[in-house]
Amino acid sequence: MARSGIMNRRHWLRTAALGAGALLLPREAAAWNVVRHNDRDYVTGRDVAQFYRFPEYRVQGNRVTFRTADFWMRGTIGGHELVIRGVKFILSLPIESRNGEALFSRLDLVKLVDPVLRPDYIRGTPDFSTVVIDPGHGGHDPGARGPFGDEKTFALRTALQLETILRSLRYQVVMTRSDDRFVSLSDRVAIANRHPRSVFISLHFNDAANRSARGIETFALAPEGAASTLRRWREDNLDRRRGNLRDAENIALATAAHSGSLRQVASHNPVDRGIKRARFTVISGIAMPGILFEGGFVRHAQEGRLISTPSYQRLLAQGLAAGVRNYRAALR
Ligand SMILES: [Zn+2]
Repeated sequence: MARSGIMNRRHWLRTAALGAGALLLPREAAAWNVVRHNDRDYVTGRDVAQFYRFPEYRVQGNRVTFRTADFWMRGTIGGHELVIRGVKFILSLPIESRNGEALFSRLDLVKLVDPVLRPDYIRGTPDFSTVVIDPGHGGHDPGARGPFGDEKTFALRTALQLETILRSLRYQVVMTRSDDRFVSLSDRVAIANRHPRSVFISLHFNDAANRSARGIETFALAPEGAASTLRRWREDNLDRRRGNLRDAENIALATAAHSGSLRQVASHNPVDRGIKRARFTVISGIAMPGILFEGGFVRHAQEGRLISTPSYQRLLAQGLAAGVRNYRAALR
């Protein structure tokens, strides 16, 4: 049992985000010491290093680094970013410090770090053979509009390419739309929830008032009690959503899909905007693991042109398909 766990983990680290390294984690690790800070639970960096068996742990200035011979994780005190072997995550709560010691929120450790470092420890995950693909917008709702076309068109074309690739890999595919029509958010959720043994990928392209904004970002549902990482969505309602039942799988799927797509378009030097949290309606309401993927900015002069081309849409689709395969392999 322990052996297959380690093999799964090695596979995940090799093929998904995280490169060639492997952490050899104990099957039953010691508990964390929880520290109260600002009325929340935190764990010291020293305990995190011990728990995950990072032989090297350093706080230099504001920089916090964990390292093994071939694996690393780093963040900045006061910052929201945590980079794990090159994959950028946006934490729900910033890294704090107290008495010269870095503090990580227990929420982020449980809901983000642990499922990413140990995907094979995620419990109760049924296998799946179906992927629900949800191309954003459609019909009278164009989504973001740019000089090279509308978001709804790019999302649909990328989705159709993803459908073809996944079918060739023997997945069943359910599309929430296959042509240029409007589908309400609640209907998208309802379509997905007819297929409980599936994963859900909502495909979007991004808009920003600032035309220099560019890059790829992937959203997983914010865990209960955590705010969205989108500043414009300062919601007060941090309650549990149906999708929170899949918190661990959501972040693992986001990791695989985000890193898969970034790797596939690497020759175009994409900007990595990270894996973030939000409470979009579709990923709040679904009962299966799901993500919302933003494949680039339609109004950016170079990126807008790229994402309007079938060849780039195909690269994104190939990256997402690789992500689905790696996610499935990591959990089995
Ligand atoms: Zn959209």
